[in-house]
Order: sequence, then C-alpha cells, then structure tokens
Amino acid sequence: ASFGFRTVPEEEKESLVKNVFDSVASSYDLMNDASSLGVHRLWKDTFVSTLRPGKKGPLRCIDVAGGTGDIALRILDHAREKYADRETTVEVVDINGQMLKEGFRRFKKTMYHNTPQISFHEANAQELTPTQFTDNTYDLYTIAFGIRNCTSIPDVLKEAHRVLKPGGTFACLEFSRVNNPLLSLAYDQYSFTMIPLMGTILAGDRASYQYLVESIRKFPPQPEFANMIRDAGFTTGKHVDGGAWTDLWGGIACIHTAVKL
Ligand code: SAM
Repeated sequence: ASFGFRTVPEEEKESLVKNVFDSVASSYDLMNDASSLGVHRLWKDTFVSTLRPGKKGPLRCIDVAGGTGDIALRILDHAREKYADRETTVEVVDINGQMLKEGFRRFKKTMYHNTPQISFHEANAQELTPTQFTDNTYDLYTIAFGIRNCTSIPDVLKEAHRVLKPGGTFACLEFSRVNNPLLSLAYDQYSFTMIPLMGTILAGDRASYQYLVESIRKFPPQPEFANMIRDAGFTTGKHVDGGAWTDLWGGIACIHTAVKL
C-alpha cells in the first residue's frame, strides 16, 4: 500500500534507514514513549523476562540493532536483580553511530559503565564483521524493533545463526500483524495519523516517522517470519499457544524465539 509517499527501492533503503535514525537519535527515546504511549517499555520488559537472562548462569549476549541500549539495560538489570548475576555481558551492535553514542551516554549513568558487562559496536546486522563477531560465540542473540529496517531479513538471520553457539537462543521483538479487523482498523488510523503528527510536533521530523510506520506494514506476518527463521537453520521456540511466536496486544508486536541446534 502507498500512503501518499513513495515506496523506497531496496538499494536506497540502507542509507535512508541510516539517515532516519541519524535524525531521530537524540529524540528517539522520547518519541518511542510518545508514539507507543509508553507501551514499548512493557513489551521490552516482557521480552526480556521471557528470556530469563542469568537464570542458568551468566550469558554472553549480543543485542543487534540495539540502538540506545534499551534491551541491553534490561538484560543486565534482570540478570543482576533476579539472579545476582554481574557477569552476563551484552555487546550492543548498531549500524548507526549516533544511536550508539546516545546509548553510551545513557549507560554512563549506570553501574555497568566502564565494566566488561557492556560494549557498543558499529556494524551491519546483515554482515557482522567475522573477525570481530566470530562463529559460535553467543548464548543469546536479541533484536528488538530492528529487523524490519534491514534490507535482507534472511541475511540477518543467517548471521544470527552463525554467531550463536549451538544451543544458543535467537529472540526477536518486532511490530507485527494484527488479525482482529476492528483492532486493525483502529491501529491503522492511529499509526498513519498520530505517529507522523507526533513526529512533527516532538521531533520536527514527519518524514522519518512516516517511514517507520510504513516499514511496520511491510514486515512479513508471523507465520511467514517463523518460516524464514526456520529456513536460516533454527528450530523455532515453543510459545504460550504452542506456536513459534507470542503475540503482544493482538499482534501489534510479537516475540519470536528459536534455538540453534
Ligand atoms: N533495539 C532498540 C530498541 O528497541 O529500542 C532500537 C530499535 S530502533 C527502532 C532500530 C535500530 O535498528 C536503529 O538504531 C537502527 O540504526 C538500527 N538498524 C537499522 N538497520 C540496521 C542494520 N542493517 N544493522 C544494524 N542495525 C540496524
């Protein structure tokens, strides 16, 4: 569907995505709260508590498209608060240096700053530098609200599979497909009018937020994405409904997990 702005050709997508996040980096956390009415925080909490980092001992984690470190902070807090684990580590990876800079600044105020528990790295999820992100290295790979911005989802999944240890977990939190027609209608109204409007008011940047809304609509529905995960060699996880994913808020967002056997 086209909503009054042109569809971006795949070859332009990467630089556009970089520009989008460059222009929103400093207001990103504020906009996240405003556009989801704070709900992204609850979804991220659910995502991380589902993964129970620290339960079976310290983990080596990689948080890809990690932006300003929302997931990384939750992983480290969860491990410490629930399991007194101060050895779990998270490497935050993002294609955008501005987002990482915001993240670094934010972590300065936490107890993890200047410890081996957190580090920030500029890299592309689709081709993680093999010498830096070596094969069979991580216990947990997370990607939250990031994979839909990548040009090639299969390449991201292939890299996730490569860097995970056998037995390691892949976990993705992403906007997804709402199946209930009424909820879907309300959600469309809200996202195509309110989010770009809030982008204009809060960040002075309508186009970037309009792009974000469109990217959500283009992302494959839950069963299709689960198949892509399996095609990359993963065994998909068992969720509450026995399927490969758990819908949050009727599918507005969704958690997929999978294991590298
Ligand atoms: N995970 C964070 C969160 O949940 O708050 C950030 C999500 S933000 C919506 C999406 C992030 O994906 C941005 O920081 C963007 O720079 C990053 N990104 C987009 N394409 C990427 C790619 N190919 N490789 C790595 N990061 C990418």
